[in-house]
Amino acid sequence: MVTDALGRALRDLRVSVTDRCNFRCVYCMPKDVFGREHAFLPPGQILSYEEIARVVGALRGLGLRKVRLTGGEPLLRRGLPSLVRMLSGHGDLDLALTTNGSALASQAAGLAAAGLRRVTVSLDALDDRVFRRMNDVEFPVARVLEGIDAAAAAGLTPLKINAVVRRGMNDREILPLVRRFRGTGHVLRFIEYMDVGTTNGWRMDDVVPADEIVATIDREFPLEALPPDDPADTARRWRFRDGAGELGVVASVTKAFCAGCTRARLSADGRLFTCLFAAQGFDLRALLRAGASDADLRAALEGVWRARADRYSELRAAGTPGLPRVEMSFIGG
Ligand code: SAM
Ligand code: SF4
Ligand code: SF4
Repeated sequence: MVTDALGRALRDLRVSVTDRCNFRCVYCMPKDVFGREHAFLPPGQILSYEEIARVVGALRGLGLRKVRLTGGEPLLRRGLPSLVRMLSGHGDLDLALTTNGSALASQAAGLAAAGLRRVTVSLDALDDRVFRRMNDVEFPVARVLEGIDAAAAAGLTPLKINAVVRRGMNDREILPLVRRFRGTGHVLRFIEYMDVGTTNGWRMDDVVPADEIVATIDREFPLEALPPDDPADTARRWRFRDGAGELGVVASVTKAFCAGCTRARLSADGRLFTCLFAAQGFDLRALLRAGASDADLRAALEGVWRARADRYSELRAAGTPGLPRVEMSFIGG
């Protein structure tokens, strides 16, 4: 097991399998920046599934336990079940996927058959008008709900449902989402709107703090705090006092959790980022395509992790000016 400069292990990897997306969520890929003329990565610059599997294999030897496939929208990448099959071959690796759910109705069964165990679906609103305003491509919420049902039917449970809360846009959707999903076995998680990238025009005023989200829910459905499942978990857990299940709140802005952050990120073009907010990543693609052996790969990854001292959210909370940022759709959230 390898630890970084602050003593943190390397446990989780988020793999962005594509930088493309069929949504233009206002907080992630705003249309005025990601318009028709936006240049996405050409296919040759994107890591192949074999290359991704090699990176995962090398990281396994350093302590990796969990891989989450993300993007862009991961279900837009052709043949994703074949990557799932390659990675699920690593027996004890916890393999999950985060998706906007738009293509889940048709793909859930194939992914489950390939060995996927868990899915997180992003869903910011139940009201169709609000949902369309947030995805900004007129995508109807009903199709995401169908995707959620298909994932549950395929056994990809317990399902997590992520909602990013942006003040004035979907904060009124908090209670409808809770009413819909409590008691279903799906775990709803509210996420503070983060200052990722430079394109979403983030302002602290747009963030609905986790404490406020919890208080809003607690007024209608009394809640009780639960201990974390895993110290590296980003979400604080709460249970409904009436026994209707649990929910999570990710307070990445108001309660930074860098001290327990064991997460690395692999961008679609094969760079390893040691923080969601890191401005630069380590170019693994160059190494892979120059014929590096597994031992070379492992040594390089170990060196990158040992040098890691990132703690962006804590620095932001401390008011550190001039911190750099990378786009969320590129690095995969
Ligand atoms: N397209 C997939 C999806 O939406 O689930 C996977 C990639 S998306 C970048 C991963 C997660 O990041 C989503 O749950 C999304 O809501 C979240 N996200 C994107 N921009 C965000 C922001 N500015 N603040 C908080 N979460 C954000
Ligand atoms: Fe696409 Fe996901 Fe970003 Fe929305 S949050 S634009 S679905 S990558
Ligand atoms: Fe981890 Fe960076 Fe997020 Fe802190 S800011 S929790 S180090 S990814």
